Amino acid sequence: MADCVFCKIAAKEIPSNLVYEDEQVTAFKDLEPQAPVHVLVIPKKHIESVLALSDEDRALVAHIFVDVIPQLAKTLGVDAKGFRVVANTGEEGGQTVKHLHFHLLGGRSMQWPPG
Ligand code: 5GP
Ligand code: ZN
Repeated sequence: MADCVFCKIAAKEIPSNLVYEDEQVTAFKDLEPQAPVHVLVIPKKHIESVLALSDEDRALVAHIFVDVIPQLAKTLGVDAKGFRVVANTGEEGGQTVKHLHFHLLGGRSMQWPPG
């Protein structure tokens, strides 16, 4: 989608610190890391948010959660101690980029409740 920063990162039109890529998914380091490990996992396809997922995205979401995130957690060394996966959604959810993304945060103890 034009004017979507994450579409541009997925298409390598703007640079990012890539940590993983396959046909459907890109993962890159967050520009403003909130933890020692802070990676964003995104579908290459433009999907606005969790609310915009459709039936045809079932395999994509499964791929992200069954394959990509657990593998990344291992590669990034946060699997043993634990980590957090966050999908901020909409205004009160704190979503600032309107392209579906999953924050993978780790490397420190997380607080609950979140801010
Ligand atoms: P949200 O607030 O929508 O859940 O998360 C958006 C995240 O994207 C933020 O953590 C922000 O730091 C990150 N971000 C925004 N623009 C860029 C960018 O151009 N490159 C990278 N690597 N991260 C970005
Ligand atoms: Zn996009």
